[in-house]
Amino acid sequence: MEATYQTAKRLLPFMAKRRIPLTPFNYRLFYDYFEDGGDRLKERLDEILRNKTVLSPDLSERLYHEFYDYLGDRARKLSLMGEKIGSISQDLENNLEKTLDTTGHFRQFLSESASQMKDPNLANGPLKSMMANLLMETKSALNDQSDLADHIDSTGRVIAALTKELRDQTRLASVDELTQLFNRRYLTLQFTKMTAEKGGGLVLSMVLFDLDRFKNINDTYGHNIGDRVLLVCAKILQNHAEAGGHLACRYGGEEFVVMCPDLDLDAARELGDSVRLAVEGTAIQIRGNSIPVTISGGVSRWRPGEAIESFVDRADQALYRAKTTGRNRIVVEEEGV
Ligand code: GH3
Ligand code: MG
Ligand code: MG
Repeated sequence: MEATYQTAKRLLPFMAKRRIPLTPFNYRLFYDYFEDGGDRLKERLDEILRNKTVLSPDLSERLYHEFYDYLGDRARKLSLMGEKIGSISQDLENNLEKTLDTTGHFRQFLSESASQMKDPNLANGPLKSMMANLLMETKSALNDQSDLADHIDSTGRVIAALTKELRDQTRLASVDELTQLFNRRYLTLQFTKMTAEKGGGLVLSMVLFDLDRFKNINDTYGHNIGDRVLLVCAKILQNHAEAGGHLACRYGGEEFVVMCPDLDLDAARELGDSVRLAVEGTAIQIRGNSIPVTISGGVSRWRPGEAIESFVDRADQALYRAKTTGRNRIVVEEEGV
């Protein structure tokens, strides 16, 4: 972390000096340029710098596509970058305060000295001219410093905006647009994090839900009403999950997962059943009609070392049995299978 931070600190003045706009694309490209991101990237960017090619938003996005797998990469890197930029921004702010503070005092001292130099009573001679030179040089150094302070100030503001943008982007990459529940990508990330942190000692179960005969609802009432039903069910899931510190996400079209740390199969089944009852008991009123909605679920418990795919797969097999044995029910995986 310290090394990447040091790179970032060198990178910002480097980019500013060459008038390279501080955008996420450029930041990433030049970050890797500094961090030995490979000969090809280095050659390409060196050529751009040599020719003083203007890095238009278009060009930098094309370069980005050229060097990175954009879709997979974006989500992965953005959150990391957000953290880094946040800490750099803080550091710049602190520096800025210090710079302005010393500059202020120094300026006052200089102007006082300058007016003393004008004093006709002051003896002429080498000392006076030496002092005058020193004052002039210091003044110009101070001007540079004030440019630097301005630069740090504007860079700080750009970075603050960038940090916000990155935060928004990271959120967008984790949340399902329709229901505002977390998405499958986020679920996988959290699963990986949890299992890596706690390893074999982790107790973790999941309920995979699927709305019953949802196609019928769409066919009967239309897709928009279908969406509203999804929203209502998502809300129910979220309320039940949040109450127990579990993670609710939209896994696919009309499929949801609640991942439950610290719950064994039986406790997860109970949670699933309370969601099922709440969905069944919620009369969804559309155009004076009350639409009956039910949901089925399959429950599985994580086995140490297991990947998320097989964890979900066992819940899916249980869900399948819930569907084939009448729907509107929660079925637990067959242990030992
Ligand atoms: P089952 O009880 O066996 O699960 O029956 P089903 O009709 O729910 O199952 P099926 O998988 O055949 O249908 C799922 C439907 O969900 C099909 C698809 O059009 C609909 N769907 C998926 N995503 C959305 C969405 O975002 N909005 C709406 N309105 N419908 C969606
Ligand atoms: Mg389905
Ligand atoms: Mg369904």
